[in-house]
Amino acid sequence: MPTIAIIGAGLSGLSLAHQLHADFDVTLFEKHYCAGGRMASRQHDKSWFDHGAQFFTAKTDAFNDFLSPLIKQGVIQVWNGNFIEFKGEQIVRRDSWTTEYPHWVGCPTMSAIGCSLSTSLQVNYSTLISSTIHTAQGWMLTDDNQQTFGPYDWLVFSLPPQQIAAITPPFISFKETLSNYEMRGCCALMLELDTSIKLEFDAAVVTDTNISWISVNNSKPERGNNTTVVVHSTNTWADSHQRSDLQQLKLQMIDEFCRVTKTQASYIKYSDIKRWQYANITKQTGPDYLIDTKHHAAACGDWCIQGRVEAAFTSAFQLAETINSER
Ligand SMILES: Cc1cc2nc3c(=O)[nH]c(=O)nc-3n(C[C@H](O)[C@H](O)[C@H](O)COP(=O)(O)OP(=O)(O)OC[C@H]3O[C@@H](n4cnc5c(N)ncnc54)[C@H](O)[C@@H]3O)c2cc1C
Repeated sequence: MPTIAIIGAGLSGLSLAHQLHADFDVTLFEKHYCAGGRMASRQHDKSWFDHGAQFFTAKTDAFNDFLSPLIKQGVIQVWNGNFIEFKGEQIVRRDSWTTEYPHWVGCPTMSAIGCSLSTSLQVNYSTLISSTIHTAQGWMLTDDNQQTFGPYDWLVFSLPPQQIAAITPPFISFKETLSNYEMRGCCALMLELDTSIKLEFDAAVVTDTNISWISVNNSKPERGNNTTVVVHSTNTWADSHQRSDLQQLKLQMIDEFCRVTKTQASYIKYSDIKRWQYANITKQTGPDYLIDTKHHAAACGDWCIQGRVEAAFTSAFQLAETINSER
């Protein structure tokens, strides 16, 4: 059986591994201790926060088929949230999400999806790949502890383009193309509020401020009763504060959240912040994945299409079809 190494166990890497594992001996490499990438969740005491992807939609048959077993197991459920839109402090739109156009979330956390998808796969966790070389025997990988892995017949990079460029040899045909993709940052504020506080919405898009999104995390299924809130900054604000002190940014985001939702800061019991350097990307018009067939190397991820969970899947799905046809 041919061998394939996939660097990155986010949704694109995991989807690719599932599409290929019948015909390839697949090994994944993930720098974190768990899979899922930006479909991430963080814990504080008994509270969990989905501080990366908030929910996702599934438009294509291929993605719906892929999700189907996870939906049957209850790992993915529908979030029927009460949605509003703020323009500054003014509410300008209200909507109720329904099962007709499902907003899917992982249960009991967004990170449960990566955990579930990775159980049947061979993943090397806590392994940050720092270089890759192509030898006569195939691809060799080295991690930041100087441990080497390989050789592999195929190598796929399923991580953000800037991180791919840092570990791709110069002769790879798509290396220069990677600099065309501009990923944007995002700061994620996590708050636990006093349980007496009931916000009048479950999810909100915010315009005209430095924050773009607020979700009441515990309004998603299986999240418990603690009032947990996730607030995202705009990409522009995060990018213009890349070097600012995170604790200062946290205080600024708390001020903005309190102003928009008219919540008193004294009701905040816990707060934390995470800076995503490569959070999102606007809609792209190029190919769904990049490939160098001569060297059996490829790259996939949401960034090829759009900063969405379904885009990460589609990029990997299309690449899997091509790799299978190249065998
Ligand atoms: C704040 C935020 C909000 C979002 N909201 C939504 C939303 O509401 N709806 C939606 O559809 N999408 C949303 N997204 C986007 C969505 O999360 C992504 O589109 C999707 O998760 C990307 O998956 P991926 O596999 O392409 O990349 P990633 O999830 O980034 O996976 C890459 C993986 O590679 C690993 N890695 C990186 N470098 C190395 C290395 N050198 N060695 C080993 N491993 C490495 C990383 O740890 C990671 O696990 C959001 C993202 C963020 C950050």
